[in-house]
Amino acid sequence: AEVKDLKISDAPLPKSRNLDVISEFQKSKNKKSASFVVVGHVDAGKSTMMGRLLLELKVVDQRTVDKLRKEAETIGKTSFALAWVLDQRSEERSRGVTIDIATNRFETDTTAFTILDAPGHRDFIPNMIAGASQADFAVLVIDASIGAFESGLKGQTKEHSLLIRSMGVSRIIVAVNKLDMVAWSQERFDEIRDQVSGFLSATGFQQKSISFVPVSGLHGDNLVQRSTDPAASWYTGPTLVEELEKSEPNARALAKPLRMTVSEVYRTMQSPVTVSGRIDAGSLQTGDALLVQPSGEKAYVKSVLVDEAPADWAVAGQNVVLHLSHIDPIHVKVGDIICDPAKPIPRADIFTMKALAFDFLMPMQVDVHRGRLHAAGRIEAIPALLDKVSGAVTKKKPKIVKPATVARIVVRLEAQVPLEAGQRVVLRSGGQTVAAGLLE
Ligand code: GDP
Repeated sequence: AEVKDLKISDAPLPKSRNLDVISEFQKSKNKKSASFVVVGHVDAGKSTMMGRLLLELKVVDQRTVDKLRKEAETIGKTSFALAWVLDQRSEERSRGVTIDIATNRFETDTTAFTILDAPGHRDFIPNMIAGASQADFAVLVIDASIGAFESGLKGQTKEHSLLIRSMGVSRIIVAVNKLDMVAWSQERFDEIRDQVSGFLSATGFQQKSISFVPVSGLHGDNLVQRSTDPAASWYTGPTLVEELEKSEPNARALAKPLRMTVSEVYRTMQSPVTVSGRIDAGSLQTGDALLVQPSGEKAYVKSVLVDEAPADWAVAGQNVVLHLSHIDPIHVKVGDIICDPAKPIPRADIFTMKALAFDFLMPMQVDVHRGRLHAAGRIEAIPALLDKVSGAVTKKKPKIVKPATVARIVVRLEAQVPLEAGQRVVLRSGGQTVAAGLLE
């Protein structure tokens, strides 16, 4: 037959090895994957710390840092060099120099990490929300230097913590930074730990999910290497990297039906429909049949890459590339959800969510963001105001929701999109984030 007469459905199905993926995963010595966001007040030292971490883990070399340092010297800000490792688009950065390095991924012996947003960018809050919607955990950076901690608490520290918690992030590692500036005072560290753990539990983080590490991001103490400063000898707990490595993909998510949010769709040699994204729940293997929502079209897994390496299977928490067969590219878009055809994610054009308000909410037009999916919609009803921590109803049918309060709201969308309980969504209006929270 002529090639043009061949239908997609005529191709042979990809072969399955019928693996028990969960037991393969459990016995594999594969690195686990974990993704996190870095939050905290401006100037707390987020970029410097991540830059230093990448340097010590040899993701970037000293030569690159020296080059950045020279460049930083020309504008009289040597200390910016480390921050620039991460923040390639910084505005302060003089023009004309581009150093092409992948700065948002790094590996330790046990884990492949993805930093979900590079801190320091202008449009930070929307980036952070998008990052938090996929994060396994967060790193909160606190500036321990005199006065800075106190002004940070009044500033973005609390706002960011509340935001990431309302996006469903439950584990938080607090890096108490710049301890070099307070001569590694244990008293200062303890004082900050007590205050921060107080407000984090009031924000809804459980004590067992909060860790504190005293660090100096600039000098690299307690990031990868333990501090050699005698004044820091009182701290014998885990380093920041050891804390990062403690993140475990949760077993419940592995056993759930497959859900993967598509972050990119492109054409490759292997397949005209190649998708990349993170597996949010469940598992898959070569040969599996999949369902793409909202198009409702079936596809098959021809081959899989996990963290850029060929693999037979993949599980929740991993970043994957799938080469698909038996599907036309018009049926797959960025923001779609790939799921188990036996237990597909439903489509809906109305949902109820528990939302943390950043601005006044009332019946109004909103853009709904879920990962990379954007859909136009409208707040249709506000059934209740809720207690921030317990979630109990404090008032029924309020006319308006005030900023920094939590409410149950009903949103109607202009089109059907794949939706289910537990998804983290963000509502924006006029380019501003007005609310974030979880679908009920
Ligand atoms: P960000 O806004 O949170 O990303 O903060 P930056 O990484 O840009 O750091 C802000 C300033 O704090 C810069 O001048 C850094 O050099 C400085 N800084 C960051 N970490 C440390 C630290 O551990 N010790 C000291 N002494 N200064 C630091």
